[in-house]
Amino acid sequence: MQGLSPAMRGEHWMAIARHTPLGVLCDLDGTLVPFASSPEEARPDADAVTIVEQLAALPGATVAIVSGRPKDWLESFFPGDNVFLVAEHGAFRRGAGAWQNVADLDPSPLLSLADELEALARRHPGALLERKRTTVALHYRNVRRGQRGELLIEAFGIIDRFLARHPAYERLEGVLVVEVRPASVKKSSAVPWLRGLAGAGARLVAIGDDVTDEHMFQVLEPQDESIVVRTSGPRRTAARWELNDSNEVRAVLRYFHGVRRGHTPPPIVLPREIEQPSPQRIVEGRDLLVVSNRLPDFRHVEGDESERKRNVGGLVSALEPALRARGGMWLGWSGRTVADSEHVESGIIDSGTAQLAWLDYRESWYRHYYTGYCNGTLWPLFHSFPSRVTFSDEGWSAYQEVHEELAKVASRLVGPTAMLWAHDYHLLLFAKVMRQRGHTGPMGHFLHIPFPSLDIFSMNPWAAQLLDALLDFDLLGFHTPQHVQNFVACASAMLPAKVAEDVVHHRGRATHVAAMPIGIIPDAFQEPPEASVVEEIEGLMRSLGNSTLVLGVDRLDYTKGIPERLIAFGRLLELFPEWRGKVSLVQVSVPSRADVPLYQEQRATIEAIVGRINGEFGEAAWVPIRYLYRSYAKGQLAELYRAARVGYVTPLRDGMNLVAKEFVAAQDPENPGVLLLSQFAGAAVEMRDAVLTNPYHADGMARDLDRALRMELDERKARHAKLLASVQRSNAVTWAEGFLDALNACR
Ligand code: UDP
Repeated sequence: MQGLSPAMRGEHWMAIARHTPLGVLCDLDGTLVPFASSPEEARPDADAVTIVEQLAALPGATVAIVSGRPKDWLESFFPGDNVFLVAEHGAFRRGAGAWQNVADLDPSPLLSLADELEALARRHPGALLERKRTTVALHYRNVRRGQRGELLIEAFGIIDRFLARHPAYERLEGVLVVEVRPASVKKSSAVPWLRGLAGAGARLVAIGDDVTDEHMFQVLEPQDESIVVRTSGPRRTAARWELNDSNEVRAVLRYFHGVRRGHTPPPIVLPREIEQPSPQRIVEGRDLLVVSNRLPDFRHVEGDESERKRNVGGLVSALEPALRARGGMWLGWSGRTVADSEHVESGIIDSGTAQLAWLDYRESWYRHYYTGYCNGTLWPLFHSFPSRVTFSDEGWSAYQEVHEELAKVASRLVGPTAMLWAHDYHLLLFAKVMRQRGHTGPMGHFLHIPFPSLDIFSMNPWAAQLLDALLDFDLLGFHTPQHVQNFVACASAMLPAKVAEDVVHHRGRATHVAAMPIGIIPDAFQEPPEASVVEEIEGLMRSLGNSTLVLGVDRLDYTKGIPERLIAFGRLLELFPEWRGKVSLVQVSVPSRADVPLYQEQRATIEAIVGRINGEFGEAAWVPIRYLYRSYAKGQLAELYRAARVGYVTPLRDGMNLVAKEFVAAQDPENPGVLLLSQFAGAAVEMRDAVLTNPYHADGMARDLDRALRMELDERKARHAKLLASVQRSNAVTWAEGFLDALNACR
């Protein structure tokens, strides 16, 4: 019954209001009662209580308040038996008689969690911990926007550790509140209960604003109605109808009351029908669209898994608070390809973190855009590997075509003034195609790989077009000041553009440029490991004869300098024979772009070097290099990082290199390993306290490795403390919020 006319909508709601038996399930905070700045201040006023009580007193009408609040608090406002009550999301309920405890769960484990979260809340001005019988809720609506990310990272760390020990509980994120509660208790349990109390043939109307209310909506039956209250702006909902605020909710309840009393209803507010979002529709008020080649958390992804993780793994955690706060959406490739003759499908799914708008690629786009212009042209060129670059006209055409298609979808998803944030070398033309479609809102781009020098960049036959298109963005973010300088030098040399400090003026537009190094979520690498992970890594160490561990972790990519690193390790064993039998290199190489010949060659080269060094130096009880062509989960990586004496991170060129930061975050501060880092990784700019090395110079790198292996505890601790402080200070969330703040400030 999508799209009822106004007259039909009136009739529809009149029939519901008259129906007997009628059951109403109404949430309190944000629904019947407007939000206040703290939970204590938000309370039902006399008007709200009267409306509910009057409706509940009518024959054939059953009304329940379904809330997350404690039972005594609810009862103090609704003492009479007419109004039914559901407290703490369904843990307690009061029908016509006494309260029932439905959850029957031992709440004692929550006490220590509540203490920890309370201590956290005290350190963050505005944060408030609410303790209930079966749940604890951390409210952060009064915490300043820019500081919410920090609080959430810490809170999620504490909560996730608790949940690992107490699987009967779950974390639930509401509107500016995070709650931990028994997983078995949900507001959905109130629905069959009220249906039973209302009587045979009942029609139910559920009204709520929060994600906890979605549980009610999801279990309603076809004859029932669900109304979402848009207190916190647009978001994905299972509800069929919507209202703006608590005044409108009260008006609808008054209307039910009036109709049932036989009055002619005055002109009133009726719930408006929601069209479920689809790419064919602009959602009013959605003000942030993130665009990247790959989507996070996308279940039916085909193709290169490591590539997907590389592009979006950390981005998800970084952007989660921003997306949540702004009701944002994320657009990208589904990972599926369709034949060129087929229709290109697109759609929307809800990942739990954000709404994801997906688009399939044609097979020719996969070949010429993704493998071709993106990974065969821009990737090697931007990493300064000109000898590996291929240029083709088909690649450039496909690059433009995919941008057109993405822009077509994007301009249906958001209005022309929304904020857009495009990521990486796959989307350099995105602002241009959006401006051509009339987009006037702020648009930013972050480049996750290096920006090369003018002599390299200008090899690209379409270099000027790329620069011109980039200057349709309002903000361009790079990892390092060097990348910014390279971009500005290219723009000044190849375009009639004028540069004034950190602003490039071109065609009457101003584009801000800035170095904004991306960070990680350090907590994710500091959690206590699971027993099975410890066992697995201990097993690996035993197989190395317990020799000192030097660790390399990369995607298998020619930019990572894996052959050079292995050769330098061989030189260590030649130049410093005392290390033979005492030190082993574990090199984790995550399969990547394995269908591309260049990457297959790289793999064969690496395997040949490993074979040569192991053959030359290996002994029965000692393997110099253990080469693992596989990927590990974050928890396993953290344990590997901790077990290593040296983090051997030596890319020939890298935009940032997150492994370097993760290695530091995972170390035991009392006995930390040493980070041996390439001077050509973007991370080297911030991580001056690592041992910096030149990966092109095998003997020099062998000597630096020797130095790292010999480093005394005092020096290791001093260097680690400084590195850790920097990794914690400038993390993934501060990066995302910093970018969005800067983009806001551009306009
Ligand atoms: N990674 C992983 N499992 C592995 C190896 C790596 O999840 O077995 C992750 C690693 O934790 C890091 C990312 O892959 O977050 C690699 O990022 P980096 O910036 O170091 O290199 P990129 O692959 O993006 O060029």
